Formats: sequence, structure tokens, C-alpha cells
Amino acid sequence: MNTETKMDVAIIGGGPAGLNAALVLGRARKSVLVIDEGRPRNRVTRESHGFLTRDGISPGEFRRIAMEQISAYPSVRFVADTAVRVDGADGDFTITTAQGAVFRSKKLLFASGMKDLPLNIPGLAEVYGKSAFVCPYCDGWELRDQPLVLITKGARALHLAKMLAGWTNRYTVCTDGPDELTEEQREELNRHRVPLLDSPIQRIESAGGMVERVVLQDGTSVPCKGIFFAPKLAAGSDLPQTLGCRVTGAGTVVVDAFCKTSVPGVYSAGDAASELYQAITAASLGALAGVGINNELLEEAWNI
Ligand SMILES: Cc1cc2nc3c(=O)[nH]c(=O)nc-3n(C[C@H](O)[C@H](O)[C@H](O)COP(=O)(O)OP(=O)(O)OC[C@H]3O[C@@H](n4cnc5c(N)ncnc54)[C@H](O)[C@@H]3O)c2cc1C
Repeated sequence: MNTETKMDVAIIGGGPAGLNAALVLGRARKSVLVIDEGRPRNRVTRESHGFLTRDGISPGEFRRIAMEQISAYPSVRFVADTAVRVDGADGDFTITTAQGAVFRSKKLLFASGMKDLPLNIPGLAEVYGKSAFVCPYCDGWELRDQPLVLITKGARALHLAKMLAGWTNRYTVCTDGPDELTEEQREELNRHRVPLLDSPIQRIESAGGMVERVVLQDGTSVPCKGIFFAPKLAAGSDLPQTLGCRVTGAGTVVVDAFCKTSVPGVYSAGDAASELYQAITAASLGALAGVGINNELLEEAWNI
């Protein structure tokens, strides 16, 4: 493939969103190029939950099955590379990759996800994805009724504390201090008997990826079987912004019901364009984007 071959659609990102879009578009007989550098958000986790028919599957096996099924549609091609630049406009986009390849496409789909920024807590990396997680919907069931630590601060602490109460009533909130909770929010946690500790976290102790305790700088040690924490997030790619797509303050691309961005011919789906952060919602948004793009291509072909 080179600049002479213009694909119908270039998809940047091959996680659940990009792959489902590729499936829909391949079945719609569109030529599709998926450029993926292979760093999906859930790569640290051993099991992915909550995707009907795939509950408990490893991210690697999910991807293997997806690729196997998509390979039935020969108009879909994959490139393992990073898109570093996009230029052009609706009908003729140019994508340049880190390895120096240049591709052209009529439409563009950013399914480039979000990335977690490190929290810099000693010991967290060892347990992340094994006994420390970010989302109770994804991993709460496995830790139900267990003693847990919730690492979070500010107004979000209260929101996450309420949510976690659905899975266990044995949890402690560690703000990794200092905290910005208001007196009313502290009162609310107190009323629900949720312990709140403000001392900065010194380290997380674990064995074989399984957390054993969270140790605070003031010497407090909180034994626990699991951790939920709220990572800071950044967009998986800033290319949508360089093309002029509107993004929210959280770095999410603003899209319509069919995942169309504010720039003609450019779509975005999955974590990159929603704050739902579930594989099944990412895949469903990828499917919607595929339909939206195909409709636009069909319309254009019809009106020539
Ligand atoms: C620890 C953890 C556990 C999770 N567990 C679950 C779970 O159990 N169940 C669940 O439903 N969800 C889970 N999630 C959420 C789930 O991982 C995401 O919602 C889902 O991966 C989003 O899919 P996506 O396709 O939008 O993005 P991603 O899966 O993140 O894929 C984006 C892809 O785009 C690539 N990319 C980005 N920029 C470029 C570029 N410039 N060029 C080329 N490629 C690029 C990335 O490398 C990546 O491969 C978990 C998340 C985390 C962090």
C-alpha cells in the first residue's frame, strides 16, 4: 500500500472500537486500513469482564478472535505502526506513520482510546491489572465483599465511594493527601461509616501482584485485598486536535450520534470519544461510526 492507493477509510487505533468499525466497514465492502500501535488501555489486565459472550476473556484472546473474524473480509488491511501526522480534507486525507509510510483515505476514524497517566505511588505498578483496577463495573464482582482501598481525591472521591458501596461495604478511602473534599462531603462519608485517610501514601505492599496493604506516611497500614483508583487520563492521540476536531476539557473528541466530529469526513469512536470506558460500549460506538461512515460514502457515490 502506498500513496497511490486511496482507501475508503483509515482507522487509527485497533482496540474494540477500531476493530468493530473495521468489521462493519469490511462487511459493507469498503476498503479499510487499520493503523494500530498495539497499546490498548486494558493491556495490563488479565481478564476483561462485562462483554456479553466474552466475559472473563483476556484482552489478547479478544483481539485474536477479532482479527480472525475480520480476516474473512479481504478489503480490511492492518498496519502495526503509529500514525504521527494527518493532513488533508474530506475525500483526501494523508496519514504519515512513525515508520515513514504514507497512506491516503477518503474518510478518517480516530479510535485511538485514552491513556492512563502514572500515579507515581510506589508499588502500584506491580498490582495494576492484577488486584488494582480503575472500574468497579469491570472488576468489582471479583472483589465483592472484600476489604478494599479506594485511592482518589476531591469531589470524585464521593462519587467513587458511593459506587463502590454496590460491591463491598468494607473499604477505606485514601486521598493520598492533601485532599480537597468539603466538610459536607467528609460528613457524608462519615455518615456512611466510610473511613477517610488523608495522609500521603508511602507504598503499596503486595505479593505476586496481589495487594496486601497500603502504607501511609503517618505510619498507618491498611490491610486490603484490592484497590480501585482514579487515574488521570489523557487522549490516546492528539491528532484529532491537530486536524481541528473539537475536544472537551477532558480530552474527549466531541461527536454526534454517528460519531462524526466537527471536521467533515472525520469520525471518532470508543474511549477517545466518550466517557463510558467499557470495551462493549467502545465496540458499539465503533459499529455506529462504521455505519455513519458507510452511509456518507454511499450517499456521495449515489450523488456523483
Ligand atoms: C486496567 C483496566 C481494566 C479494564 N477492564 C475492563 C473490563 O474488564 N471490561 C471492559 O469492558 N472494559 C475494561 N476496561 C476499559 C477498556 O479497556 C476500554 O474501554 C477499551 O479498551 C476502549 O476501547 P478503544 O478501542 O476505544 O481503545 P483502546 O482499547 O485503548 O485502543 C486504542 C488503540 O489505539 C492505538 N493508538 C492510539 N494512538 C494511535 C496512533 N497515533 N497510531 C496508531 N495507533 C494508535 C492504541 O495503541 C490502542 O491500541 C479496562 C481498562 C483498564 C485501564
